Amino acid sequence: MKIITIHADFIEFEAKKKAFQGAEENIPEGKQRVEECLVVLTAVEKNDERDPQGIINQYVQEIKNIAQQVNTRNIVLYPYAHLSSQLANPKVAEQVLKEARELLADKYSVTRAPFGWYKSFTLACKGHPLSELSRELTGGSSETANLKREFTDEPFRYSRESLTPEQRIAFTLGFILAKAVKDLFKSAQIGEMGLSNQQIYVDFSQVKLRVEDLERIARQVQKIIKADLEIKLSSRDNLKDEWQRKILNDLGQEKPVYSLEETAVVPLCQQPFADSTSKVKAFKLMNLASAYWKGNQNNQQLTRIYAAGFASEEQLTGYLQQLDQAEQRSHITIGRQQQLFVVSDLVGAGLPLLAPKGAIIRNEIINFLWDLHHGKGYQWVWTPHIAKDLLYKTSGHWDKFGDELFHVKGKTEQFVMKPMNCPHHMQIFDHFSWSYRDMPIRFFEPATIYRDEKTGQLHGLSRVRAITQDDGHLFCRVAQIKQEVATIVEIIRRFYKILGMEDYWVSLSVRGKDKSQYLGTDEVWQVAEQALLEAAEENDLPFRRIEGEAAFYGPKLDFLFKDALGREWQLSTIQCDFNLPERFDLSFMNERSLKERPVVIHRAICGSIERFMSILIEHFAGAFPLWLSPEQVRILTITDRSLELAYQVEKKLSDLNARASLDSRAMTMGRKVREAQLAKVNYIVTIGDKEVQTNTLAVRTRSGEQKFGVEIESFAAMIADEIKTKKL
Ligand SMILES: [Zn+2]
Repeated sequence: MKIITIHADFIEFEAKKKAFQGAEENIPEGKQRVEECLVVLTAVEKNDERDPQGIINQYVQEIKNIAQQVNTRNIVLYPYAHLSSQLANPKVAEQVLKEARELLADKYSVTRAPFGWYKSFTLACKGHPLSELSRELTGGSSETANLKREFTDEPFRYSRESLTPEQRIAFTLGFILAKAVKDLFKSAQIGEMGLSNQQIYVDFSQVKLRVEDLERIARQVQKIIKADLEIKLSSRDNLKDEWQRKILNDLGQEKPVYSLEETAVVPLCQQPFADSTSKVKAFKLMNLASAYWKGNQNNQQLTRIYAAGFASEEQLTGYLQQLDQAEQRSHITIGRQQQLFVVSDLVGAGLPLLAPKGAIIRNEIINFLWDLHHGKGYQWVWTPHIAKDLLYKTSGHWDKFGDELFHVKGKTEQFVMKPMNCPHHMQIFDHFSWSYRDMPIRFFEPATIYRDEKTGQLHGLSRVRAITQDDGHLFCRVAQIKQEVATIVEIIRRFYKILGMEDYWVSLSVRGKDKSQYLGTDEVWQVAEQALLEAAEENDLPFRRIEGEAAFYGPKLDFLFKDALGREWQLSTIQCDFNLPERFDLSFMNERSLKERPVVIHRAICGSIERFMSILIEHFAGAFPLWLSPEQVRILTITDRSLELAYQVEKKLSDLNARASLDSRAMTMGRKVREAQLAKVNYIVTIGDKEVQTNTLAVRTRSGEQKFGVEIESFAAMIADEIKTKKL
């Protein structure tokens, strides 16, 4: 198959006359015009008859890729025989075009020009770099082989920002590494050199590097460091490597070139190197990866080496320990060890599945949130996961989320997986008639929303495509904002105090200077900003007023919390909204029997529950407080003589809604204890003959303290109390 795609301002075409007997029948009469579209001139060829389905898939994928790049939703499939002298059987060709249209129709508005007709057409091409592309599709695999994409690479840019001493040591190591590889592999060419998360990387081509080579390269690096070689400014004539000359072309010929003996490079920033190689006192080559020239998949693939370099051994040791800790604490590592969640290729990326233990944590968080809202006038609502596109066109989310929306095709109607819960809650409010006496109305719903995040950005539980918000919406009068905000602040403080995350600050985000960008009258804004300010002051919130940070629809309070690792997360938010009530024309009857518009307050306490779980897992390093812990007590028996008592204790705990399990395997006690400790179980209870005789328990805490002769009643009462008070 051969195709030419043209990103057009418009195409206008008209079928004039059948080109042959078998031409398509029942085609639309007259001129057809499509604006702002991707026109796909297509010739289906003989070879495609071998695997029509393969070619259709490839054709559709290719069109989707290009449509996404040029950002258009309109596609015109245009049979164009002149592209090939080996055309397929017309029946096959017509079928390919028809099926492709079907497959594209869920995401795009597709027009198909008639097949087998002479057509007149006018076409206005946009003329940007991607507006005209030609392809040959060979079928057989979903990989788009043999395609030449005419991407234009971005030129390298020179940074004048000055580096820290630590960064300079890292770059110096990069230069040494470049020389070391060239010393060992004469043909090697040096590509890009840059920093990524404190590590320096250098790309190489014309050399096959394997992980086994790293040791030898490290020895060479060590030699160069020891030799105390000078790094000096050099002439561009010394720049021999092809990639380095290309970089210099991008940056400009006057940019400084540095040399380390006969190896020369042109760095992307100013003064990146120490004056001699001996300034690097400690280093480690971290790993090998592949990288494309200028990050473009259509360019040559190079081999990238990552390395960490420091001015002292202690710094390197500290850095490696920190890396190790982050890895051990990573929610992905802990999630695997404790069997909290799984990711399945069949289900898809960014759609983690919670295993029983993960689901326990999630439910505990949601139950706790509900406990805090219950009794404060909040009512639980429930809304479906899909809705008609009109809902989001009305709310404005259709444009806001664009291609992040998941589309669902019904038999006759089009739906969208919901990207936000707000519009649904607006509809519940709107359905009933309210008087001022009913206000405020408060809806609560932890509900899942769906957004098509880029695959590369998906990560464990922290970046997902199915995001559960602990959502809630309040409908109130302007004068009620302050009181409602105070209640939410109280909930937020209680929630985070329990979790031991009390280090936080609050951004009071208000309008910027240019008031024209914001929706709603000055008067309402002033009242709302004042209400948030007073709520912040009266509740002693550590807040900063930040101008220009308000949403266009209203001012807000954003809460930024620090976790045990000192990382800051924006979690809770309280947002006033004057826009949605307007868009959905919401109202209630006031004292004078006139329709009054309510203010909507969006509030979330932990934001996305999935992301919040990932933060909690890392915050507690998998050692959860008792109330949150998936396995609170593990009972270990020494022999079967202890089984009866073990069952009694297990029953007693489960009657109290505690989560206890029994390990009665015939295995050494030492091993059972170690396993329970690794699983971070809060209490390990052991029952041997002595315990059976005295009807008591031996109890070991997670920190390793052990007590013998513990009365069963008092242990159970202690557990019940610790769960109830949510002790840390
Ligand atoms: Zn909302």
